[in-house]
Amino acid sequence: MDTERYGRDLFMDPETDLDRLVLQFGRQAIKQNGTGPWSAEITFDLLLNAFRIRDLESILLYSSDLSHYVADLHQPLHTTENFDGQLTGQLDIHARFESKLLNRYLSRVSFNQVDPTDLGPVLPALFDLVLGSHQEVDSVLRADERIVSELALDRKAYRGRGEGRDFPEVYFERMFEEVGGLLEERLNQAAHRVASLWWMAWKQAGEPVF
Ligand SMILES: [Zn+2]
Repeated sequence: MDTERYGRDLFMDPETDLDRLVLQFGRQAIKQNGTGPWSAEITFDLLLNAFRIRDLESILLYSSDLSHYVADLHQPLHTTENFDGQLTGQLDIHARFESKLLNRYLSRVSFNQVDPTDLGPVLPALFDLVLGSHQEVDSVLRADERIVSELALDRKAYRGRGEGRDFPEVYFERMFEEVGGLLEERLNQAAHRVASLWWMAWKQAGEPVF
């Protein structure tokens, strides 16, 4: 989602529901800029209703949809129009950060035990999430910039058809030193928010027993 196109202020206002968004920006623009938190909220309501009517198949479907929307929004680069570093000459940063780095170092990420908590009204909680992710966009981009210049990497040498050639291992080692903590924090927050929203939907539906 292109948070910049909406402006940070919009996410400070809990009244910004989808209708207001459409009114303010038009359907075409919001289709282009993305609707992550609003889609997540709609999915939360669908899950809540599925719990109410104890429709097990829908519960599974919507809880997985919801986890996708919510976990995705924890990736800082999913909250910026510069999602692949294309505006700052840092192409492919998206995959370097969310898959290549993670796949190499997953075993060194520690996951906390998740205790679901009540996040309060859903849309504002999702807006908080967006703002928290968005404020880390620069941390990721700056780390990449710093390390590429420190190692004197020629970005062009790694471009190619498809995803191009991987940056050398030392780049990922340095990246993990720089943003490994951030990666861990975002993943743990994602697990906590997803679990909390599942649990909240179940609670609000009257804690149905199956
Ligand atoms: Zn992604």
